[in-house]
Amino acid sequence: MKILSGLSLEEIEKITDELHASKFRARQIHNWIYLKSVKDIDEMTDLSVKFREELKQVATVTDVQIKVKQVSTDGTIKYLIQYPDGECVETVLMRFDNRANLTACVSSQIGCAVNCSFCATGKRGFIRNLSYKEIIEQVLTIQRDTGLKVTNIVFMGQGEPLLNLDNVLKAMDIFNENFQIGARRLTVSTSGIVPQIYKLAENDMQSTLALSLHAPNSEVRRRLMPIENKYNMGELKKALKKYVEMTGRRITIEYLLIKDLNDTPESAKQLAEYLADIKCNINLIPYNPTEKNDYQRPSSNAIQKFKYLLEHSGKKVTVRLERGADIDAACGQLRGKVEGKV
Ligand code: SAH
Ligand code: SF4
Repeated sequence: MKILSGLSLEEIEKITDELHASKFRARQIHNWIYLKSVKDIDEMTDLSVKFREELKQVATVTDVQIKVKQVSTDGTIKYLIQYPDGECVETVLMRFDNRANLTACVSSQIGCAVNCSFCATGKRGFIRNLSYKEIIEQVLTIQRDTGLKVTNIVFMGQGEPLLNLDNVLKAMDIFNENFQIGARRLTVSTSGIVPQIYKLAENDMQSTLALSLHAPNSEVRRRLMPIENKYNMGELKKALKKYVEMTGRRITIEYLLIKDLNDTPESAKQLAEYLADIKCNINLIPYNPTEKNDYQRPSSNAIQKFKYLLEHSGKKVTVRLERGADIDAACGQLRGKVEGKV
């Protein structure tokens, strides 16, 4: 049985060829899958009943299942999606009353090897990479379930996208070509895998790179992110500057604010100094407490003060709006994904 979700037009043409149908049928099927997001072959109403029956003998729309779906009062929807091997990932759809944008937050791996001390995903360790088809299935699942078209995608779910770069790049190409989502509406978030940042820079996609920095100096960063021992902030800075030089794109710096750990005025000053010569915007993320550690979220006052101090450096600073706060937060980082002003 062929799974239609994730196939390119050429791959669908192979199926229609085998069924002795015209290439135009392949184009129709392609549109039904990616733009109209059907759940079933029977919904492909511009194909004849006879042809649909033939197609159903050899193909099906998808092989993933929605295990859990939670809808927040703010409209955020969180899905737990299960692949045929039984593994699950979380995917979140965020929508905003005042904007037409629908942002999908997708996972790139099952588990994560980077093991940041504040992150629920990292605690599980690394299980496996997702294939590009499994990545795009997350967005197709959202579209099929809601009947809506996703307009923006952020790789901020489970996993480290730059440690699964080939599949992530292939998925981004498909988002671009098949889903018709512009590269500028795609954001890849990384903990700072330096060699892969250089690789990404060579790729001339116009997508956005978000860097999870979370610390004003190496000492604090080592406590939060073991990756600092492998690629330190000095090397990271060189890679970020090269990325800006090669792509012309502004980087988004993500900075998790944790009470008394990295939210002091001195931290704001050091952070501003570190970022002074990097073309970037800064997104402050108030920490979402998870069960596994003692970190706390700073007070709103402390957050505003930190923001104010940083803004003096001339950078654009936003505080991330929390989304879906009332739905299960087993995976801490799946809450509060999107920029917004508080
Ligand atoms: N591995 C990549 C992308 C997935 S994590 C990365 O680390 O960038 C996406 C974002 O969620 C990261 O910025 C991460 O630091 C953040 N995050 C993880 N746990 C969080 C928590 N408990 N509260 C708030 N943000 C969290
Ligand atoms: Fe992995 Fe990102 Fe979580 Fe760190 S924050 S453990 S890199 S998913």
